This record gives sequence, C-alpha cells and structure tokens, in this order.
Amino acid sequence: MKHPSKERTLVIIKPDGIQRGLVGEIMQRYERLGLKLAGMKLMVPTPEQIEGHYLLDPNWKKNVGEKAISSYEKKGEKPPSSDPIKVGDMVVARLKKYMTAGPVICMVWEGAHAVELVRKVTGGTEPRSSNVGTIRGDFVVDSYQMADMDDRAIRNLIHASGAVGEAEQEIPHWFSKGELVNYRAVHEDILYSKELEGILE
Ligand code: ADP
Ligand code: MG
Repeated sequence: MKHPSKERTLVIIKPDGIQRGLVGEIMQRYERLGLKLAGMKLMVPTPEQIEGHYLLDPNWKKNVGEKAISSYEKKGEKPPSSDPIKVGDMVVARLKKYMTAGPVICMVWEGAHAVELVRKVTGGTEPRSSNVGTIRGDFVVDSYQMADMDDRAIRNLIHASGAVGEAEQEIPHWFSKGELVNYRAVHEDILYSKELEGILE
C-alpha cells in the first residue's frame, strides 16, 4: 500500500476565484496544512475539458442532482425538477459556461490525507450552507436558489476532488506526467519522519 503521505488531490481555482484576487489566500490555506504543491498551471479550459472532467465518474450526474434536490427539500422548498438526472444535465451545461468564462488555475497538492483535508478546508458545495472557517464559507455568497433563478452554476471559487478515486482520475485529465514534480520539501521531515532526529545539538 502507498504511504498516505503520498496522496494527491486536484484543486482548480475557478474563474471567480481568480477575478476576486483570492489565489494567494486560497493557496495559503492548503500550504499551511503542510501539503506540498506537485503541479500548477494557469489556463482557459475548453467546454470539452469541463464536460470530460465532470463525467469521469458515471454516477456524478445523478449524485449532483440528488444533492440539489435534497437541499431544497431540507428547506421545505420545491426543487426545479424532481429528476436527479435532469438536474445533473442542467448543471453540466451551466458548468461549461462558468468554467470557461476566464482563466483557472489547476493545481495538484500532495500530502497525508490530501483529498479529505483539502475538502474539509474548502467547505461544502453551496456557500450559503458551507461552514464558517472554510474557504467557501468565508469568502463567497451563493446558493442553489440564486443559481437556479439565474440559470447558472453555483459560484464557489474552487474545485477539489471529492474522493481518492476521483482524484486519481482527475489528475491525469488535467496534467501530463511530465507536468508533475516529485521532490522533497524540508518540512516533511517534521510531519512524517518516524523519529524526530537532528533537532537537538
Ligand atoms: P463540489 O464542487 O463541491 O464537489 P459537485 O461535484 O456536486 O460539488 O458539483 C460540481 C460543481 O457544480 C459545484 O462546485 C458547483 O459549482 C456546481 N453545482 C453543483 N450543483 C449545482 C446546482 N444544482 N446548480 C448550479 N450549479 C451547481
Ligand atoms: Mg465534486
């Protein structure tokens, strides 16, 4: 089994994150966890790249629809459709517009439990209900309701892989092998070494 400290996750700072001038703020949140940057690039994605990315997982469309419907139901409100696949199709179309509206920054972060920890710090999908202290909870306002009213994607600054399997599919979708760098960061000794050697003189 691969050592957990080698886990990698994909993060994309979405067009609104770049426009809001939050690149440094967002990267600092992952960096200060102790995670290590393994790859990074600025680009304007094509609609095909976005559709390909979100359809890597055949269940994603249904899941995203179910998540939206249950968010409405929890508030006692009526969802725009009760068919999760229909909602999923709508979200894909909206994401193609949102994610190609300007440059994004694609990044790969590496470190112990990278997928889980990046998600925790990033916060839940809908900024309206994401927790205080998370990036989405602290830096942006948006909701399912507003996105549906204006027929657009929820603007939540960041994409972060949702599971280890997802990350393993998403990273090669955005990065070739040569664009990812294997190297040692000095602080990894303190985070991961078995013995804390070499501190005392
Ligand atoms: P996450 O990005 O938190 O993993 P999902 O994978 O469920 O969330 O959805 C991908 C992205 O699609 C979200 O980050 C958000 O920008 C957008 N989105 C999700 N659900 C909706 C919806 N019902 N209406 C509009 N946009 C949505
Ligand atoms: Mg997701």
